[in-house]
Amino acid sequence: MHDTVKSFQIREIVCIVCPNGCRIRCAQTPDGLQCSGQKCKRGVDYAAAELTHPMRSLTTSVKTAFPDSPVVSVRTDGEIEKAKLIDVAKALGQVIVEHRVKIGDIIAKDICGTGVNIICTSDRLMHP
Ligand code: SF4
Repeated sequence: MHDTVKSFQIREIVCIVCPNGCRIRCAQTPDGLQCSGQKCKRGVDYAAAELTHPMRSLTTSVKTAFPDSPVVSVRTDGEIEKAKLIDVAKALGQVIVEHRVKIGDIIAKDICGTGVNIICTSDRLMHP
């Protein structure tokens, strides 16, 4: 949501750090980032990060070479820049798992140069 109050652009960000889901109204002013609506300081930290370098985890699935389990679920082992999510998703679209991997095994190292690995989140390939 965007609007303008006292000439400062206001953005509303929903904090996802805890289940409260506070709606935080943020304005970048000459005195710095001003926030309201958060129930704790973690919300301000989250909003500041979200406005400058938003990060996300990714959970998805990739293809395998095994007809009994043609796909296996995976996730990032850390957060990646939101702007790189599409590149990472495209790269994972090219991946074919050719070994019977288990939970925690690395499927792709340093995906797209992010420094984050893609790891398996299922034992499905171990128990066909
Ligand atoms: S601002 Fe604090 S209380 Fe509100 S959702 Fe974020 S972490 Fe939870």
